[in-house]
Amino acid sequence: MAAIHLKQVRKTYGRGAKAVDVIHGIDADIADGEFIVMVGPSGCGKSTLLRMVAGLEEISDGQIVIGERVVNELEPKERDIAMVFQNYALYPHMTVYENMAYGLKIAGLSKAEIDERVQRAAAILELGALLERTPRQLSGGQRQRVAMGRAIVRKPAVFLFDEPLSNLDAKLRVQMRLEIQKLHASLRTTSLYVTHDQVEAMTLGQRMIVMNKGRAEQIGTPAQVYGKP
Ligand code: ADP
Ligand code: ADP
Repeated sequence: MAAIHLKQVRKTYGRGAKAVDVIHGIDADIADGEFIVMVGPSGCGKSTLLRMVAGLEEISDGQIVIGERVVNELEPKERDIAMVFQNYALYPHMTVYENMAYGLKIAGLSKAEIDERVQRAAAILELGALLERTPRQLSGGQRQRVAMGRAIVRKPAVFLFDEPLSNLDAKLRVQMRLEIQKLHASLRTTSLYVTHDQVEAMTLGQRMIVMNKGRAEQIGTPAQVYGKP
């Protein structure tokens, strides 16, 4: 578990005459265990900000602090973070079990520890009967569950979600939204969740960051943001 602090975070793509500022000094404090949703129009910088937190994108200026550590100079591997993507990003040739176990193997955990974590995640996500299948043999919702399982098994301090449900049909989206809510209630991992779906934002977010043109225009509870009592 860890709080996240963004201090005057900026991002400029390109150099010299071609430089484009896309994030203009964002400040935000996300509490330990909080679920915060980032919304805003396409191109406003949500992904860029998320990727900077994840260490997949260099921070041009300012500071990102996760827990006690300033992450600007850390390698992605050194960050206690797991990210879930819109396109699942599963390894196509590995089974469900192997997909979930892979990161733990790389991290050098014992076979017994890996097995325990994978089995527990599979039980939580109802993947127990699918462990020997490959991603091709799964539905979209099942794939997204595997992607989440792969994140959970690492027991990260921070979860990052980049529009994880936008490739699913409406019915599955509702179901997965409820599952994510349940997961957060039980894991209490600090979560930063990007979406353009207002319903997801309102139901999942304890607070929201409303982005516009590279700035955080508003940070508050859904009630504050949408002006409801
Ligand atoms: P969002 O996730 O809100 O749709 P992005 O973070 O993807 O927004 O993009 C923010 C802005 O940065 C956009 O104008 C986009 O075109 C630009 N951008 C994103 N990635 C790059 C890149 N690698 N090089 C140059 N510009 C980029
Ligand atoms: P990203 O998708 O933003 O590049 P990820 O954290 O998803 O980053 O993946 C880290 C690396 O592992 C990336 O280079 C990604 O392309 C690669 N990767 C993820 N899933 C697969 C896959 N199913 N097959 C091959 N490579 C993959």
